[in-house]
Amino acid sequence: MSVFCQQIVAALEELAPLRYAEEWDNVGLQIESDRQMVEKIMLALTPSEKVIAQAVEKKVDFLLTHHPLIFKPLKTINSRTAAGRSARQLLTHQISYYAAHTNLDTVLVNQTLAEAISLQSVKPLSFSHADCYYKLAVYVPVGYEEKVREAICTSGAGFIGKYSHCTFQSAGTGTFLPLAEAKPFLGEVNRLERAQEYRLETIVPSENLTDVLTQMHAAHPYEEVAYDLYPLKNQPERAGIGVIGDLSEKLTLTEFMQQVKKILQLDSIRYCGERQKIIQRVAILGGSGASYINLAHEQGADVLLTGDLSYHDGQLAEELGLAVIDGTHFATEHFVLPVLGDYLTQRFQHKVTIIFADEKDFWHAE
Ligand SMILES: [Zn+2]
Repeated sequence: MSVFCQQIVAALEELAPLRYAEEWDNVGLQIESDRQMVEKIMLALTPSEKVIAQAVEKKVDFLLTHHPLIFKPLKTINSRTAAGRSARQLLTHQISYYAAHTNLDTVLVNQTLAEAISLQSVKPLSFSHADCYYKLAVYVPVGYEEKVREAICTSGAGFIGKYSHCTFQSAGTGTFLPLAEAKPFLGEVNRLERAQEYRLETIVPSENLTDVLTQMHAAHPYEEVAYDLYPLKNQPERAGIGVIGDLSEKLTLTEFMQQVKKILQLDSIRYCGERQKIIQRVAILGGSGASYINLAHEQGADVLLTGDLSYHDGQLAEELGLAVIDGTHFATEHFVLPVLGDYLTQRFQHKVTIIFADEKDFWHAE
């Protein structure tokens, strides 16, 4: 039993849409092997060479990691860099490779931790997506509507909740008179043309607008594309990085840390703040969250659970009176892998085998 690689990609992007990735990020299918069918999937946090070696050894067809293998554009692929060696290994052994990074942070990483801690009334810590929406209406000659629809809907338009390709089309007659310098796709210079056209309408989040308009122009046959763009008052999707919520009962920082250590399976934990401080409102940002200390404080958090914290991050937290817990970058993100594994198992029951890489934090305490 097996499934097409593209089915796995589609399932992952249904869970963590690519449009939720930060602009600086690089996510999605980064290496495509010639093998179309997938029987075995490996999940890991980081595509280290040790993880790649395990994927080869276990003969997986698809490797899914949180941190991207190809992050900054690769200038060369050779065996002098880890990324080059890894790309070569994956291609040689016909393993497709996929990264779900900040798009997964937005929908699952912090929510999973929040659930484990039983946070109530959870909402995003930072709203980073879809400040506003636009309505795009474009006039397309009959016969080109599918091409234009596909172009705009694969570049970020037409998403409503769990649906993509949401458009409305109505038929009508467009008129235009090509002037002297024009090179019209239909009609002749200086003659009024009547063309059968569709008005194709859809919704576009502001952050995708440039891409959508570029792809629309590329797919449209007319020299001058007629389109309207209206700002909308629709409520934006409330997606963002990090979460904030409330514990059902107040705990001291010490009690809360005991709980966190157990959940993250840590023997010890770094923190700053008074051990007796009362904790109810909790902000969570798996991975590197030092830059969210101010925001967590502004939103009334008693504590921020994150990773990768420095001495001066502690100084800032202390100045603000915010307790901060360094649950480690590794543990606060590795936590999501079983949930991701369960999702894929449910989607492709008995058709694929899911395995997890044997992976440890790069950092140790002695
Ligand atoms: Zn990370």
